[in-house]
Amino acid sequence: MSVKTVGVLGGGQLAWMMAAAAKELDISLIVQTAKENDPATSLAADVVVAGIGDVQAIAQLGKRCDMITFENEFVDLAALGKLAEQGVCFRPNLSVLAPWLDKYDQRCHLQSLGLPVPKFITLPDGKPQGEFPSPPVKALGLPVVMKARRHGYDGQGTTVIQTWQELEPTWSQWGYPAVLLEEFIPFERELAAIATRSVSGEFTLHPIVETQQENQVCRRVIAPADISSEAAAKIEAIARTLMENSQAVGTFGIEMFYTPSGEILVNEIAPRTHNSGHFSIDACTTSQFSQHLRAVCDLPLGNTQLKAPGAVMVNLLGYEHATSDYREKRQQLEQIPQANVYWYGKTQSRPGRKLGHVTVLLDETTEPARRQQALAISQKVESLWYE
Ligand code: ADP
Repeated sequence: MSVKTVGVLGGGQLAWMMAAAAKELDISLIVQTAKENDPATSLAADVVVAGIGDVQAIAQLGKRCDMITFENEFVDLAALGKLAEQGVCFRPNLSVLAPWLDKYDQRCHLQSLGLPVPKFITLPDGKPQGEFPSPPVKALGLPVVMKARRHGYDGQGTTVIQTWQELEPTWSQWGYPAVLLEEFIPFERELAAIATRSVSGEFTLHPIVETQQENQVCRRVIAPADISSEAAAKIEAIARTLMENSQAVGTFGIEMFYTPSGEILVNEIAPRTHNSGHFSIDACTTSQFSQHLRAVCDLPLGNTQLKAPGAVMVNLLGYEHATSDYREKRQQLEQIPQANVYWYGKTQSRPGRKLGHVTVLLDETTEPARRQQALAISQKVESLWYE
């Protein structure tokens, strides 16, 4: 089947970058998104202005497209399931998406695949009755990490609890939703990888990266990660198990903790393109967005190798409530040698919101000089952006 038209649910920056890749592949991408000025609308072949929960609009979209893919996994699977029964093609398919929408289900699924995860338990919603924290909660130790099971992103709905006294008041402030509680991992570094599997079963992994989070939000990504070949082999095995076990189709982001003893623990799976793979647009032969479209359209997958010795990607996060396009700052960032500035065209800035990113190619070829170069460049970007 030669696929020409792909629908995507969601019109933020991920769909915007997917739309750019679609043009290069001669695929017509129709974006369904809530607002007519959302980022992806400027590049999409066509736009349906409707929320990603608007099932009637998705049914119509399905008629116009060879398949529908996702920018965002926060979809109503039951409602989409009815459309699938009527013949709408979703890629990844809905049963592949199902384990990833809830952080507790994720952990259970990863464990059932035999993949290493932090120790965890769930608390049902509602004010706790009886002894609290209960012995199984206390067994996780302190600090402990509390995560809303659903709809958390960019650290919203994730918090580190330092004392048992804090646990209930914090949970109460959230309104006692069902939460995942897990042991705090004193990681040495956080790592991420972008894995892709096509309809035909071809598998690729983009270069493994180091990610750096502040207040639970990704600030910068360094490619490639300075890790041993043993660690890289473990990560490739994790990625293959993940994609092949469920016959997943498309690109997935895998976030991991790398512990001082060299252990790799999976933190989170995003069943879609991911912030940790944005560097691939400039630094790899094939970007994660192009790879995702190739995978879902059953085109041959591209080469994922780096085209430069390395790259650093810095997120441009909002630091104030404002309406501004920050033109002057962007012009300054563009002056940095080998820098590529991506501006998502959002009209409103607010603290922590992802407004754009900058990728700078590195020329150092050996470690630790390459990582140091990445950190120095990210410091420069961040001082221009935040000061
Ligand atoms: P989100 O889905 O909002 O991105 P994550 O679960 O990925 O939330 O957590 C965001 C960040 O919080 C992680 O990248 C990491 O820095 C920190 N974090 C999350 N879980 C743990 C943990 N168990 N131990 C230590 N740090 C954690």
